Order: sequence, then C-alpha cells, then structure tokens
Amino acid sequence: MEKAVIIKYSEIGVKGKNRHLFEEALVRRIEDVLSKVGDGFKVTRPQGRIFVESEDGSDFDFEDVKEALLKVFGIQEFALCHVTKDDGTEALAKELVDFLKEQYEGEVFSFKVNTRRARKNYPLESMELSALMGEKILDAFPEWKVDVHDPELIVHIEIRDKINYYAKSYQGLRGLPNGTGGRAMLLLSGGIDSPVAGYMMAKRGIVLDAVYFHAPPYTSERAKQKVVDLAKQVAAYSGEIRLHVVNFTDIQLAIYEKCPHDELTIIMRRYMMRIAEDFAGQDGAMALITGESVGQVASQTIQSLNCTNEVCKLPVFRPLIGFDKQDIIDISQQIETYETSILPYEDCCTIFVAKHPVTKPRAERIRASERKLDDVIDELYKTAIETTETIVIN
Ligand code: ATP
Ligand code: MG
Repeated sequence: MEKAVIIKYSEIGVKGKNRHLFEEALVRRIEDVLSKVGDGFKVTRPQGRIFVESEDGSDFDFEDVKEALLKVFGIQEFALCHVTKDDGTEALAKELVDFLKEQYEGEVFSFKVNTRRARKNYPLESMELSALMGEKILDAFPEWKVDVHDPELIVHIEIRDKINYYAKSYQGLRGLPNGTGGRAMLLLSGGIDSPVAGYMMAKRGIVLDAVYFHAPPYTSERAKQKVVDLAKQVAAYSGEIRLHVVNFTDIQLAIYEKCPHDELTIIMRRYMMRIAEDFAGQDGAMALITGESVGQVASQTIQSLNCTNEVCKLPVFRPLIGFDKQDIIDISQQIETYETSILPYEDCCTIFVAKHPVTKPRAERIRASERKLDDVIDELYKTAIETTETIVIN
C-alpha cells in the first residue's frame, strides 16, 4: 500500500481549449508549494484529477502536504488516498477498514461506498463491490449506518490497474490557479485592507507585484518590515511578489508645504497611483489593485475615488469596494494577515493627515492645487522612482 493525495479542481475556467493551461498552472503551483514541504514529490494528472505521490513510493507526512494544499487557489477538494495492488476483496476490505479506523476511530457516520471501475475486467460490478465493502465497514463500525441518498461520509474506491481508496476530504480554496489571470500591481500598505485585496485578486489567478510608499524618518524600519511580512503572508497564497518600496518623504513634504492641508490625502493618493502605474508599466502589470471600500474614510468617498482614478489609465481593481470593515477583518483573520496588520506602527498617510480632509473633492480644484508643485515635482518624482528598492518575496 502506498500513500497519495488525490486532488479535484474546480470546474470554473477549465472548459474548452484553455483547460490544459489551467491544469498545467495548477500542477506548477502545487509543485511549487510542495517544494517547500520537502524533496521527492511527484505530481501527475490522470483524467481530470491531480495526484501527489512521493517519487519512490516512500511514506510522507500528510499533515504537511495538507497545510500546503490549503493555500493553493484552484483546488476544489482533496483527500488522502491509499493505492494498493489488487489482492482480492478480503485484502481490500481489511485495508479499507484499517484506513477508516486510522482516520475516524470513535466517530459515527452515515455513509455510503462509491465505486468507480476504470478497469472493466474487474470480477465484480461497481455496485456489488460497494455493497460488499459497505457490509465489511458495518461489521467493523457497528454504530455507523448506510445512507445512499444523503450520507455524511462517502468512501470512494477507484479500480484502475491498482486500487485507490479515500474518504475524508478537505475543502480547497477554489478560485483560479496562480498565473492564469495576468499580472497586476497591488498598492500594499501596512493596513488591514490591502493585503486582503491582494489575496482576493490572486484568487482570480492574478500574479501580484506590489508597491509600498514609506516616509523615512517619519516612518520607521519596523513599519517597512511589517509590510514585507504582510507581503510574505500574501505570497504564501499568491506565489512570488515583487515588492517596490518607494521613498515618498520628499513628495509628501512638498505637498505638505505647497498644497492646502485639507487636500493632502487626496493629492498624496494621486501621486501614489501615478507611481504605482509607472512600476506597473515596467513590470508588465495590466491593472492596479487597492484596498479601498466606499465611504470607509474621507479619501474613499465616491467623489474622492473619482479624483484618484482620473490620474491613471490602467483599470483599478478594488475588490473590497462593497465590503463592510468587519467582513474584511474576517477574511484577514482567515488568511492570517490580521495580527500583523494591527501592529501599531506609523503609516506614511497618518503622519501628514489633516484634521478635516475634504470628503467631496472637485477634480478641477485638486488639479489647480497640484500645479503649485510644478517647480519641484518632476525632479522629486524621478528621484522617488530611481531610489526605489525592489524586494523579491516568496
Ligand atoms: P489599508 O488597510 O489597506 O491601509 P486603509 O483603510 O488604511 O487601507 P487608506 O489608507 O485610505 O485606507 O488607503 C487606501 C488604499 O491605498 C489602501 O488599501 C492601499 O491599497 C493604498 N495605500 C494607502 N497607503 C499606502 C502606502 N503607504 N503604500 C502603498 N499603498 C497604500
Ligand atoms: Mg492605510
């Protein structure tokens, strides 16, 4: 008997001629996360399934593989599977009962056995084998009962050259595999929202690059490290992220010095979008992503969003736009970015923030205010781009 993991993937996006691209991307991603678990895993994809085995048939720790697969987009569900050679029904029943005891000792279920016969010369019909194994399971677990319509547990048996059996399955994240959706640039702050926004777009198969604006010495090394940590936590799901850390201090100081203080945030946000779009161009990213949500703060009213939007040509994805803060927090807890996000380090926006920011900025007025930067902004902008540090995170 050998161990394997059987993986079923979601049907979304798998139809038609792109199916193989989806499958290959999923296999690559699974290989990638398993390479961090250990050497010697083999990932194959026989008919509509993906199998993970050890290359030489040796044992492996399912718990580690499980943790890794729980972070892969594109998986519907997966299960620990045993692969055994066909030594007759007595031997199969014994192995199957041992397998169930290992996973379910002490638990009580309604169940059914589901047999699939890919090898047609097997001596029993599918139904006959299911019935026979059902009896053997009932002998071993007298409190269990059979329910063919709505069972709590389905015991699967697949008859190929060898015989596979599995029962307990784990829900995957669904979504689309990493890399099937192109590349986008995430504006990643140290807050709660933007890591969640990145996660949600990565779930649609998008590869993430990120940009973080810091303002040393007003923001500390710890604040930057916090963003690096968040990027790492998101990268556990999204795969590698190239993080651009932009020194934004001089631009912010210039805005502070020359522009009306109630417009600081909105003007600052416009420069963030412009710089993010420049890096998107360099990296081949085709959209920007932010963690904005309507009405959350002054810079996220519908008027403010119009005002920040007008400076960029790329589409801006705001996956949290209609989300409640608590819903966003729930996701950030699930993906385990929350604890990092709430660390109390200063953020470049909070340092220069006005007491009463405009909530309904008019674009013409903001443009007029920005013209006060004309003398200095080109040089500052160029320096900000040139002094950016890029960190590859995976
Ligand atoms: P978050 O929790 O993501 O920081 P927030 O509620 O604090 O969001 P804002 O500070 O208004 O909201 O920022 C809105 C969005 O702008 C963020 O979600 C993020 O995408 C981007 N952003 C804000 N500050 C930065 C920064 N310092 N670097 C990069 N992106 C930023
Ligand atoms: Mg913020």
